[in-house]
Amino acid sequence: MNAIEELHRKAKELTNLNSIMALLQWDQEVMMPSGGAAGRAEQFSVLSTIVHQKITAPGLGKILQELSGKPEELSSADLSLIRVLKREYDKNTKLPEKFIADFSRLTSEALPVWVEARKKNNFEIFLPLLHKIIRMSRQKADYLGYVDHPYDALLDLYEEGLTTNDLDVLFGNLKAELSQLLQQKISQQKPVPEKLKDMAPMLLKDQVHFSERLLSEIGYDFNRGRQDISAHPFTTSLGHNDRRVTNRFRPDSLEFIFSALHEGGHGLYEQNIAEEYAETPLDEGVSLGIHESQSRLWENIIGRNHLFWEKQYPLLQEILPDQFANILLNDFVSHINRVDPGMIRVEADEVSYNLHVLIRFELEKGLLEGAIGVTDLPAIWNEKYKHYLNVAVDSDANGVLQDIHWAHGSFGYFPTYTIGNLAAAQIWRTYCLFDSDYRQTLLQGNLEKIRNWLTEKIYRHGAFYPPAELLHKVCSEPLNSKYFIEYLKNKPEFSL
Ligand code: ZN
Repeated sequence: MNAIEELHRKAKELTNLNSIMALLQWDQEVMMPSGGAAGRAEQFSVLSTIVHQKITAPGLGKILQELSGKPEELSSADLSLIRVLKREYDKNTKLPEKFIADFSRLTSEALPVWVEARKKNNFEIFLPLLHKIIRMSRQKADYLGYVDHPYDALLDLYEEGLTTNDLDVLFGNLKAELSQLLQQKISQQKPVPEKLKDMAPMLLKDQVHFSERLLSEIGYDFNRGRQDISAHPFTTSLGHNDRRVTNRFRPDSLEFIFSALHEGGHGLYEQNIAEEYAETPLDEGVSLGIHESQSRLWENIIGRNHLFWEKQYPLLQEILPDQFANILLNDFVSHINRVDPGMIRVEADEVSYNLHVLIRFELEKGLLEGAIGVTDLPAIWNEKYKHYLNVAVDSDANGVLQDIHWAHGSFGYFPTYTIGNLAAAQIWRTYCLFDSDYRQTLLQGNLEKIRNWLTEKIYRHGAFYPPAELLHKVCSEPLNSKYFIEYLKNKPEFSL
């Protein structure tokens, strides 16, 4: 077996092992009885040790090095495979075994403590562990290496090539515009119609039915996927022909509609990757930011557009008549586009959402630099919410303790949400240049046309191109905040 064949064999094995891990995870979130938790944790530990050994094996490092030396003999797909595997190999080998074990122990310990602290609304309970997590994240950055800023090393884990400097520029432009836009949009809004305020509770079976119909409408393939219920909605890949989504359903919340479109967007991306990448590490979305651009595109740009609802609203009224039969389409669309800044990121509207992320970015950067001390975190958090969103935070549970990310040790993750929002607007603008009749396309529900374009430009490539290169190929310019701001400023649904 020559070197490239050997690399393919190893890549296939790793990809299948990761799919098995995803199955265990899916089962844990969707099916597993609570008594299975300890046994499952053991199974994870066994399997992730095997995966770690394989991705850090000196044999793999040797093959990658050997092949990197002769790019002229390799196909472009093989070169991409090498790029993706080399990233994984480097990430895993730069961190000492002991560090990985210690960090994983620390975050497993931190998770229930964070849950308790949030429940009791007491930051002090979480503080000592958060302190350790920040110290170890800083150490992690040192092991991984960086040129300008330790945060760069952590950002790169989630978004290949993204730097603190890039984010300073993107957020710098955003913050000047968003706070002002926020106040302006609030002042233009009409009150919510009474009927929508006290809607009759929805039945689970009707919500499931509508979300499945909606997923089918956008082109999610139920022969190669399924929708189940979990505590938090997510999308996972169990193989090339098995990309699953989950949702949660509350009788009084419309959230399930937008979660269906959000996870459906992630699902469409993965379901439309080229078959030739099956069972290789190229068979996945290229980065968290680009992945999020697809969920946000379907959830917000398409899914909150009144033209989209012209076609879909009658279906919602048919499946949930007690709730929607007497509500006008315009009132519904205006309601789902309400600008209402609050304390909680995951409930935020499109205008305020990125300000929540900006706050986390500024805090993470400051914490890693040492410019912000952990004990001062709640006070600084609240100050920033007042400053950027004009929101008074009523408790640490609804403030600094609201997100799970820090307890997970995922420093550097938050900014990918904003990358997703900005990229979605930029990609959509490029689509509208291609399809000058895009209003008709939406009005007629010709979503296949949009999906085919996205497949051609983005989905089918999987992880073949690095994220910034992919975006540049699609939009002919680098990521910027201009189109997102334009999109918000011109969005007619805000002033219906
Ligand atoms: Zn998402």
